[in-house]
Amino acid sequence: MSLANNIASTLYRTAEQFAEQPAIYHGEAVYVSWQQLLERVEQLAALLQQLGLAEGDCVGLAMTNCPAYIETLYACWRLGLIAVPMNAKGHASDFQYMLEHSRSRVCLVSDALLPTINKACDDSARDITVLSVNSDELSRQLSQVDTASLLPVSQNAELPAWLFYTSGTTGRPKGATLTHGNLLAMADAFFQDLEEVESGDHLIHAAPMSHGSGLYIIPHIIKGACQVVPVSGKFNGPELVSLINHFGNSRVFAAPTMLQRLLEDPATDSLPGLKTIILGGGPLYVQDCINALRKFGPKIAQIYGQGETPMTITGMTRQAVQQAYEQNDSAYLGSVGSPFSSVEVAVVDEQGKPLPAGTAGEIVVRGPTVMQGYWENPPATADTIRDGWLYTGDIGTFDVNGVLTLKDRSKDLIISGGTNIYPREVEEILITHPDIKEACVVGVTDPEWGESVAAVVVTEAGAELSSDEIDQFCIEHLARFKRPKRYLVASELPKNATGKVLKAKVKAMLEH
Ligand code: AMP
Repeated sequence: MSLANNIASTLYRTAEQFAEQPAIYHGEAVYVSWQQLLERVEQLAALLQQLGLAEGDCVGLAMTNCPAYIETLYACWRLGLIAVPMNAKGHASDFQYMLEHSRSRVCLVSDALLPTINKACDDSARDITVLSVNSDELSRQLSQVDTASLLPVSQNAELPAWLFYTSGTTGRPKGATLTHGNLLAMADAFFQDLEEVESGDHLIHAAPMSHGSGLYIIPHIIKGACQVVPVSGKFNGPELVSLINHFGNSRVFAAPTMLQRLLEDPATDSLPGLKTIILGGGPLYVQDCINALRKFGPKIAQIYGQGETPMTITGMTRQAVQQAYEQNDSAYLGSVGSPFSSVEVAVVDEQGKPLPAGTAGEIVVRGPTVMQGYWENPPATADTIRDGWLYTGDIGTFDVNGVLTLKDRSKDLIISGGTNIYPREVEEILITHPDIKEACVVGVTDPEWGESVAAVVVTEAGAELSSDEIDQFCIEHLARFKRPKRYLVASELPKNATGKVLKAKVKAMLEH
């Protein structure tokens, strides 16, 4: 088990051990050594301290994948600040909400997001300082700060470290408050039950660092493994393949959609440099898993987690996946594996009573990785954490061997390419259009994305609306990835006797 109570302390230990060796690569080029990483983290922490930030303050991170992401996270933790990594694909209004709700006074921004964040901060009544992580001005300021004045590292494991904003069914994102203790427990769970991390490993960030890939920075820094940030700053098949093979012992966290794209790419016929692809964030279909094992060999692992218990509910190691493949055990390949040993996982009925193997119910989790609660949202926290158990909203069954299979997830959540989209949020935007009376948004099966967003809208009497007009409206008000890919204008929505919209019927309308 880890002895540190602050994630930043682990960087001090690793920097001492691996000093001049490379810590971060940008593409194939060394970006910094461990010693340089520590120096830059201390400089940024000292600058944030100079700006008046203190333990427990929030700092927004609006960045596409870039090496500075790692420096920024550790600088926040070094000073006891709470990092608020935000989905880089968000709309200015999403950023504004998260910055205001977290009461962030500073937002660190990478170049591509500067216009969006400047707009979000201009529109905000709060005073938020925007710092561009790529600017010469920041480099100049960092070179002048006095790191000797830095306060000692706080060793309070209960201190929040990461606000993980997830969209809520109310349409407003909720900030799962993850403490240093939660995230260090996540790293320990990884080592104990998923796989060892060695200093010669490379973690390649092809998935968003604001989510799973970023969380995995922590176990890799603890063990002195290098981080590799693709120059494109995103998932790009040929670039990823080339980096995997260039570095060797490469580990990648990927959503199943990324795996599908790799499988379709002829350049991925040979991935000798790959150690493991860890899949998570959405359903991994058995056929995709088998295709990946055939193409890449025994290198596929899977985790099931959620922001509220990061990366840690159940998992399956690459050895377990390979064994199931060799034994033709498609039930195991279609499952999400067994609980991590540091958490308790149960399947319960509506009264919270444990259900026997084979019976479907809600998956609940208890243990050191479970969030402290939702940031400044006691009602949502009380609703989600009951008697110490986290109610995941996912439906599943255990088999007699304790292997969990996800049957469904909370009914209306759409997972498109591994990203969660909550229909209510999209519906709330659609119905603000003056010509739209009602809207119902659902996920429809999509061969590429798993699911894609689709909407049925009912227009006001006499109004005429084209799909293009609705789409344009969504582009103006919603993050692009959340907007429906298909619209159907109907005279009414199917409803039950009490007036509830029948989503299954809406889906059927869109799929036929
Ligand atoms: P997030 O909080 O964004 O990480 O999303 C978490 C949700 O994604 C979970 O509650 C599940 O519904 C889904 N999810 C995560 N991992 C898996 C997995 N391995 N298989 C299927 N669904 C998953």
